[in-house]
Amino acid sequence: MKAYNFNAGPCVLPKEAIESTIEAIRNFDGTGIGLLEISHRTAGWERIMAETRQLWRDLLNIPDEYEVLFLAGGASTQFFMVPANILAKKAAYLQTGVWAKKAAKEAKLFGEVDVVASSEDKIYSYIPKNYTIPADADYFHITTNNTIYGTEIKYDMDCPVNLVADMSSDILSRPVDVKKYAIIYGGAQKNVGPAGVTFVIIRKDILGKIGSRQYMNPLPTMVDYRTHAVDDPKNISMFNTPPVSAIFVMHETLKWLKDTIGGVEKIHEINVKKSQLLYNEIDRNSLFVGTAAKEDRSIMNHCWVMAPGKEDLQDEFMAFAKARGMVGIKGHRSVGGFRASLYNACPVEAVEALVKCMQEFEELHK
Ligand SMILES: *Cc1c(COP(=O)(O)O)cnc(C)c1O
Repeated sequence: MKAYNFNAGPCVLPKEAIESTIEAIRNFDGTGIGLLEISHRTAGWERIMAETRQLWRDLLNIPDEYEVLFLAGGASTQFFMVPANILAKKAAYLQTGVWAKKAAKEAKLFGEVDVVASSEDKIYSYIPKNYTIPADADYFHITTNNTIYGTEIKYDMDCPVNLVADMSSDILSRPVDVKKYAIIYGGAQKNVGPAGVTFVIIRKDILGKIGSRQYMNPLPTMVDYRTHAVDDPKNISMFNTPPVSAIFVMHETLKWLKDTIGGVEKIHEINVKKSQLLYNEIDRNSLFVGTAAKEDRSIMNHCWVMAPGKEDLQDEFMAFAKARGMVGIKGHRSVGGFRASLYNACPVEAVEALVKCMQEFEELHK
C-alpha cells in the first residue's frame, strides 16, 4: 500500500533529495569516501556549504547585508540564543502558540518580556490582531506559522523595532520580504531538510550590537552569533563541526525547490492549491469542522475535528484513513482531532487521496 506522509515534522522530503543523499552517503563528490565519513574541511564540503548559502539567497532574495547560518540545537536553541545576543532591556512577544510561549519563557532569563497579545484563551485558534508593539523594545518576536494549531501570519508586517521570526514550519513555502526582519530562524525539519540543522538569517548590523547586554557578558562562545557569522566565507558556520549530513540533505532539498519546482513563488502557488483542496473538503464535509479561524488558516498545517454530534466517529475515521495509507494525521493532543501537514514536498496526489478518503467516510455514514 502507498503511504501518504502528513507528519508535522520531521516530515516528507523530496524523493530526489533522498536519492541523491543515498548516493552521497556511498560516495561523496566522487571522492570514493562517503558523506558520513568525510572531513568537514574537505574542499568538496566547503563548496556544499557555500552553495547551500547561495541557494538560500537565491530562493528568498536575501540581501547582502544579511548572513545565512547553519547551526545545531534546533529552533529551541534559538529561543535562548536570540535574547542572549540582542535582549538588552526589554523584548516584546506575540503569543500565538506553545512554541511562541516557550520562546518568551527563555527570553525572561535575559530581561523584561512584554507579551503584547495572546490567543491562549481559545486554544490558539486565531492570530491576535489588536496589539501595540512597544517602541522601546529591543525586538518583537513572532511565530509566523503555528504548527500545532494550523494558524499562520501570511504577510510580512511592518514593525517599528527589530522583527524576529520563528519560521520553522512555513519557511520557503511562500515569498518573504527578508528586509522586514532582523532575524529569521527555524529548525530545518519541517520544510527544508531533516532534523539536525537550524537556519538563522541575520542582518549583519545586529552583530555589532551584541555585547551591549547587561546581564551576561561575555557570552559563551557557541551562543554568540559572531562566532558563526565571520567574514571569512570558509569559516561561516564552521567554528565547530557542522551537522554535515543534515546540511547536505538541505542542499539537495533547496536544489529541488529551485531547479525542479522553479522557486518559492511557484511552490507557493502549488501550496495554496493543495491547501484549498483540503480546506474545501473540511468545510464541505458534514462530518468535520476546521478548528482555526478562517482568515488565519495556515497553508502548511490543517487542523480539523469531528463535527458536533459526530465525535464518536473519531476513532473509526482514524482507522479508516490509516487503512488507506494516511500517515501522521492525528491532531496534537492540545487540539485533538486531526492535522494534515502539507509541506512543500507533499505531493498534490497525497492531498487528493486524503480528500477522497474523507468523502468515502462521509458516504459510509450518510
Ligand atoms: C517544531 C517547531 C519548533 C521546535 O523546533 P526544534 O527544532 O525541535 O527545536 C519551534 N517552533 C515552531 C514553529 C515549530 O514548528
